[in-house]
Amino acid sequence: MKVLILNCGSSSIKYKMYDMDNKAVLAAGGIEKIGSQGAFLKTKQPVADKTFYDIPDHDTGVEIVLRTLTDKAKGCITSLEEINAVGDRIVHGGPFSESTLITPEIFTEWKKYLALAPVHSSVQAKCIEAVTNHLPNVPQVAIFDTAFHQTIPEHAYLSSLPYEYYEKYGIRRYGFHGTSFRYVLQRSAEFLNFNPKGKKLIICHIGNGISLSAVKDGQCIDTTMGMMPNEGPMMGTRTGDLDPSSLLYLMEKEHLTPDQATDIINKQSGLLGISGKTNDMREIIELAESGDKKAQLAVKMYNYRLKKYIGAYAAILEGVDYIIFTAGVGENQPPVRKGCLAGLEFMGVRLDEAKNEKIYGQEAIISTPDSKVIVAVVPTDEELMMAEDTTRIVTKK
Ligand code: ADP
Repeated sequence: MKVLILNCGSSSIKYKMYDMDNKAVLAAGGIEKIGSQGAFLKTKQPVADKTFYDIPDHDTGVEIVLRTLTDKAKGCITSLEEINAVGDRIVHGGPFSESTLITPEIFTEWKKYLALAPVHSSVQAKCIEAVTNHLPNVPQVAIFDTAFHQTIPEHAYLSSLPYEYYEKYGIRRYGFHGTSFRYVLQRSAEFLNFNPKGKKLIICHIGNGISLSAVKDGQCIDTTMGMMPNEGPMMGTRTGDLDPSSLLYLMEKEHLTPDQATDIINKQSGLLGISGKTNDMREIIELAESGDKKAQLAVKMYNYRLKKYIGAYAAILEGVDYIIFTAGVGENQPPVRKGCLAGLEFMGVRLDEAKNEKIYGQEAIISTPDSKVIVAVVPTDEELMMAEDTTRIVTKK
């Protein structure tokens, strides 16, 4: 069974084609800069290549992806009829609590929540429509980033703004990175050989964007991102937690429009905003090691805020059995793992520092054998999770 996975962003489309009979990746690549000069398609598999195209919109982008898949050199199939199903990553699923087959009714229902993530959801809607136009007989499955968090109880997902704004506008915590959390939870249980029932986990997805989730009995009970992907620890370019009044004050002082303020909290803050140089943790650590004071401060702030949430989640879980690190930084940055766990011995966390230093992007336990809390690195694979959901849903009788 051949499954195409699409991940559409505001100006990009990433794709991966799987043969789900053996979970092999047949093709992978992506389009960037849609709608701008210099738009291009970069393939990673079966060959590495970069070609510039005129790509005014996502519809054209989908068409180019499909054409590439049947290309003799860059593709992996001879005809589009070989595609059995398509899985679409949906950033904001509103109240949807699981991946679902996209029927016209489901599509209409989901579009009611477009306003919750206007930029992402509108391009994702366009991609779904483009796939329907090009592959009218191929089933499509929506995989929602927010779905994993639908088990969060009301007292944790509600904001403390007047209740009427929740009723009127759906202002609440939705959470993100849910597909990653689902994969990492499932994989951790296999790798570490435990049954999630009765266990307490803190899963730390630390990439450019960061989400931590508190998971009890296999269900998410809280997560750091809120209505939009801004709340939580400090990120690559996003502020994370911020006193809302400070933003209103800044808007007044600098005469900022909502769009300009949104740009500051999303694209100019975090590691980039503090260091003044980069949002890339590899570069930040190099700068810090070479004596750059702002980079040193950025690392300190970053680790401090992660640690604060680990402590908070240990409190709401009333204990913790596993702390799992995943995503770009979580999988590949020993200094961050060490920095955010420093001093947590009082709650039973003992990091094996020598082991931690050696682990880059592979599954491993990095706590000492006598640590009460098992600390591990489990690389995420959101696309595989999406391909598995898609296969399960379209083959369900
Ligand atoms: P995104 O949230 O955009 O998916 P990633 O999960 O790829 O981001 O994480 C990006 C961050 O991870 C960057 O700060 C980068 O420095 C770090 N990172 C990614 N890969 C590596 C690696 N192999 N070694 C060290 N750091 C890495």
